Amino acid sequence: MALRTRAVPENAPGDLFVDDRCISCDTCRRLAPATFGGGEDDRAFVASQPSDGEARRRALLALVSCPVAAIGSTSGAGVREASRALPVPLAEDAPDILDCGYAAESSFGAASWLVLRRGGNVLVDSPRFTAPLLARLRALGGARFLFLSHRDDVADHARWAEALGCARVLHARDVTAGTRGVELRLEGDAPTALANDLLAIPVPGHTAGSTALLVGERYLFTGDHLWGDAEGRLGASRSVCWWDWDSQTRSMERLAAHRFEWVIPGHGRPWRAQSIDAAQAAVRDLAAEMRER
Ligand code: SF4
Repeated sequence: MALRTRAVPENAPGDLFVDDRCISCDTCRRLAPATFGGGEDDRAFVASQPSDGEARRRALLALVSCPVAAIGSTSGAGVREASRALPVPLAEDAPDILDCGYAAESSFGAASWLVLRRGGNVLVDSPRFTAPLLARLRALGGARFLFLSHRDDVADHARWAEALGCARVLHARDVTAGTRGVELRLEGDAPTALANDLLAIPVPGHTAGSTALLVGERYLFTGDHLWGDAEGRLGASRSVCWWDWDSQTRSMERLAAHRFEWVIPGHGRPWRAQSIDAAQAAVRDLAAEMRER
């Protein structure tokens, strides 16, 4: 529980506050950018107290999603309702992609997503295991797959797999002692079709087994390989490349051949292009920049 006595001095006066245990994961700014301030890699603070019901609702989604419970509300009004409201749609024109919130500290607050689809939903990366989220996921039809983009964002994968009966998917190069029980191991560097509309695309670099998931010709889930930022740019960074930058650059070049409009990452912000051609061009440009770094 967040402590008012540890609230950071930058908070705007009022009911909501952030305390000094914030780990700068950016979850709150992704879910409620109107309320929470600071740069994407900075400690968060309440920049502006919510001015209406919708802003408060979004801020409370962030409160319950904070991986270290660093966000507090003195009144507590609406917190219980917020805990039962996740997951929430990514955007009005992307109603089949839901933001699960409930970030886990063990994944350093990485985002996880639910893809709603007729052939069985897909949970992309693992949220924190909580009873309210489990109830909502079950009400939405559960999940057929739990797609793990790489070794770092696996959080409570075993509990989700057991509770939902879904098959976990992870590249063999990223399997560790904690994930050796995954049901489906991907091999090699060639894309693997999990279903007609689901393509697992190995993108080694950030980690040896990093893998993107393409859903239809629209959504590309990228883990920590590729992300958007708060200014609407695409990015990848050598400073958070844990395995091999040249491999990550080559993976980016190959990725530009695939067809998608959205980039939906684990860390960073979702990014959307005006068209498939524009998305491919942006990824090609980024790959060329990476070659120069
Ligand atoms: S969600 Fe919590 S840990 Fe993450 S930036 Fe916000 S306050 Fe900090």
